[in-house]
Amino acid sequence: MENFIADFEKRLAPAEKRMSEAWWVLSTSGTEEAQKELVEAGREYNALFADRDEFERVRAWHESRDVLESPLLRRQVEVLYRIFAGRQGDPDILHRIEELEAEASAVYGNHRGTVGGREAGENEVREVLRASDDESLRREAWEASKTVGREVEGTVRELARLRNRLAREAGYPDHYHRSLDLQDVDAGELAGIMDRLQSATDAPFAELKRGLDEDLRTRFDTDTVMPWHLADPFFQDPSENADLDVDRYFADADLEDLTRRTYDALGLDVRGVISRSDLHERAGKSQHAFCLSVGREYPYDVRVLANVQPGSYWMNTMLHEFGHAVYDRHVNPRLPYLLRTYSHTCTTEAIALMMGSLADDPGWLLNVAGVSEEDLRGDLGALAARRRADGLVFTRWALVMYRFEQILYADPDREDLNEAWWNLVERIQGVNRPPGRDEPDWAAKIHVAVAPVYYHNYVLGNLIAAQLREYLERYVTCGPFHESEAAGRYLLEAVFGPGARENWRDTVLRATGEPLDPAHFIRSIS
Ligand SMILES: [Zn+2]
Repeated sequence: MENFIADFEKRLAPAEKRMSEAWWVLSTSGTEEAQKELVEAGREYNALFADRDEFERVRAWHESRDVLESPLLRRQVEVLYRIFAGRQGDPDILHRIEELEAEASAVYGNHRGTVGGREAGENEVREVLRASDDESLRREAWEASKTVGREVEGTVRELARLRNRLAREAGYPDHYHRSLDLQDVDAGELAGIMDRLQSATDAPFAELKRGLDEDLRTRFDTDTVMPWHLADPFFQDPSENADLDVDRYFADADLEDLTRRTYDALGLDVRGVISRSDLHERAGKSQHAFCLSVGREYPYDVRVLANVQPGSYWMNTMLHEFGHAVYDRHVNPRLPYLLRTYSHTCTTEAIALMMGSLADDPGWLLNVAGVSEEDLRGDLGALAARRRADGLVFTRWALVMYRFEQILYADPDREDLNEAWWNLVERIQGVNRPPGRDEPDWAAKIHVAVAPVYYHNYVLGNLIAAQLREYLERYVTCGPFHESEAAGRYLLEAVFGPGARENWRDTVLRATGEPLDPAHFIRSIS
């Protein structure tokens, strides 16, 4: 077993590194050559898992892993099994899924709706919904944000059918169950967490929504609040409070410098990451933001891609991505290759979310961003309300995604998916369905097509972030965690260093002294 793992690492390491490098080059240049190289690298990578006999050996080891005395070896077998199992199945189906995902990505990327008589991209639609007072323009923008749904509906249903076929071949009821299992998330446990979040947010969300609706009815002089009155196409964020201008804090700020100083205060140096990063807007470059580890050789090569603009949004995003980066940078290099990474998507999201949320944290604004006390004093109430509203609105939206994907994978051929989607949106988000609407609005959300069964990671990330921050401030720093090198050292020891040596449950347990408990997050938004 140890020989197999050692040999496999030797094949895996260069293939993974090639993929990451290709992804970076494509994201920073957008050339056709880079696109080709990524496809090639992907093919080489996938071929590593194509040997059925090898998979059967790994599976047999995984099934009898409890007899292994070494926890490190046992954990490597678990990780290796999941990597293999996620890439098994009829090669034709695997290939077809890749094609359809690429096709769907291209449709989302190239689709333009019509707003005000001209073509509008995603950012323009978002800007209209964020800022415009023109109701008919807003309605057009909202409709435009949904037209992509019709274009990809067939592709998304076909993807769900094919993913289900792979899942059934492997003995699962459907893709939803397979995917959760391969992410080491127990479906029953997750259902319990989601039910609890829903019932705990029922009343505070209803109250928040009532207030929001009242404001919108006045602002738009209407009796009924419709989806296009809300601040974004899916009601993922609360509407902005006109009296709270958080962008003004960062009008003249150097966000790169603020990021460096934030991590300096924790004793975590990000200069090496910054020097390898690509942070500013440029033609041909990906418009989003992400953190990427290239290879797993020490010293680690960790990079951030961003498109920094002045303002609060990019401050949050920079702190978020560098949260991923400090985690990646500080994994113990002596761990075996397979464990030399973060424990789970939800644990790295937790660190990133905890760091990103500093961008509207009064203590951080005062001490790191240099906002004056008198400037801040008038905003304290609004900042607290905004933090709470963000948590509530996002949780309700994530619940819609979570419940809808279960319905979709239970039966991708269902004729009433449009209605099922709107039933959830009405019930959970309290958003009115436009009369007679029967459109595949669910397919307009890119995650449903290309990042399936993923949303729970954001939810778990929020829960872990709240629990970890509370622990740090109560037991480690006795004050705001972001002002203390002790907090940085604790994160190194308890979260970053151990990497994937333990699964996410044990990581949470060790770092916070208790198993995951949604009570901490619920308290923060109630
Ligand atoms: Zn993230």
